[in-house]
Amino acid sequence: MTNISRIVIIGAGMAGARAIINLRANGYEGAITLVGDEALLPYDRPPLSKASILAESTPEPVWLLDEGIVASLKAEVISGVAATAIERATKSVRLADGRVLPYDKLLIATGAKPRRLPIPGGEHALLLRNQDDMLLLRQRFVPGKKIVIIGGGFIGLELASSAAKKGCEVTLVEAQPRILMRGVPEAIAKIVHDRHVAGGVTMLTATALSHLSAEAVHLADGRVLPADTIIAGIGASPEITLAKEAGLTIDNGIACDDHMCSSDPDIYAAGDCASFVHAKLGNRRIRLEAWRSAQDQAATAAENMLGGDKQNVTVPWFWSDQYELGLQIAGMADMGPVTVARQASPETLVLFHLAEDGTITGASGIGPGNAISRDIKMAEMMIAKGVKPPKDVLADPAQPLKALIR
Ligand code: FAD
Ligand code: NAP
Repeated sequence: MTNISRIVIIGAGMAGARAIINLRANGYEGAITLVGDEALLPYDRPPLSKASILAESTPEPVWLLDEGIVASLKAEVISGVAATAIERATKSVRLADGRVLPYDKLLIATGAKPRRLPIPGGEHALLLRNQDDMLLLRQRFVPGKKIVIIGGGFIGLELASSAAKKGCEVTLVEAQPRILMRGVPEAIAKIVHDRHVAGGVTMLTATALSHLSAEAVHLADGRVLPADTIIAGIGASPEITLAKEAGLTIDNGIACDDHMCSSDPDIYAAGDCASFVHAKLGNRRIRLEAWRSAQDQAATAAENMLGGDKQNVTVPWFWSDQYELGLQIAGMADMGPVTVARQASPETLVLFHLAEDGTITGASGIGPGNAISRDIKMAEMMIAKGVKPPKDVLADPAQPLKALIR
């Protein structure tokens, strides 16, 4: 292990928390300081739009690290204080309370921030990114209340499902001709759309906005949607402010190589804030906003900060839960022009995406509960191995995929 004794991590989310665990798992015994601007220890975000917002009584955060774990990892966690500058010349991080933290290696894990609606009155729309946002929305999810959600992406759809379950009167507005336009195949998006309609949600696709007022969403065609609460889920931008001011290269996030190292050899980045070169996906530069990717990238960065030589080549994967349906996507659907469908029931569909030469590049699935989990897991393993699976086996739900992995 190289001679380093001071590691600083900015950002106390999934990537920051996992980095501490991985640094210790790799045998590092020096100092670790984690700086987070939220007044809480690191907690999990996926429950915010699902289990936590639906909870009967006020939900506690789902902790990624609690006091006991922090103590056992011998890490210092500074909560509720923002890092305000990275001074590369002196290899130090400046905090909002005046403290200066010197580092041998630095990890930036600052995540992403939700976009605000760029229309007049956009400030009337609530956003969801953190525990406080969820607690505010939870109070608004009261039976019979009119909730208008703008954006048919993951936040919008998961919140629509949760609000509908709570008995609210929900309308979802999406500017594109369909929901989940980017990254989710149309056939799967259609199953999701139909489930929302069956759940009582009014789905308005191909619908442009004019402006918002405190009590209504005004559409471009003149219609007015009265609303007790307006929520925007229109995407997130990587939090790159400190990295940019420090002169690091930015390219759709903090630009990292395939080792999660930034343009400064002593600074790494991981999670939603980082883009990186994926050596097993044609050296394409990608940025992922997903829970498991944040963990994978943090593990790679931790090993390499200690002198390791690990490429970040895990297959991208994420999930979304809406009503009783579980959606999962592995790999990159858009890299496979050939699609093979495997349909076990009307609401259980897996699509495999293959390159022209037959190599599997991605898989997208939807079904009740965990119905598609096994097939997606098998697809993930095939993608990692670069398998060219026979299409007839993929298409036949009666044929297990396990044999294709060997
Ligand atoms: P974050 O978790 O955002 O953590 C970054 C932290 O850094 C934040 O606490 C931020 O406040 C802090 N920070 C930023 N700037 C500074 C600074 N200057 N100083 C100090 N601290 C700073 N993914 C899935 O795969 N499946 C899901 O079902 C799913 N559901 C989700 C539901 C919701 C509501 C949200 C918001 C996200 C969901 N995700 C899901 C995405 C997943 O949670 C993120 O990809 C993951 O949290 C990214 O981790 P991160 O550590 O990169 O960033
Ligand atoms: P998202 O999935 O990118 O979806 C944003 C949606 O809003 C898209 O449909 C987008 O359409 C639309 N949109 C963008 N700009 C708009 C505008 N100006 N007016 C109206 N609509 C607009 O992002 P998100 O749902 O807001 O989620 C935010 C973050 O939370 C992301 O990091 C996401 O990964 C994370 N999250 C993940 C999950 C999950 O993985 N299950 C669940 C919740 C949250 P276009 O495609 O045309 O831009």
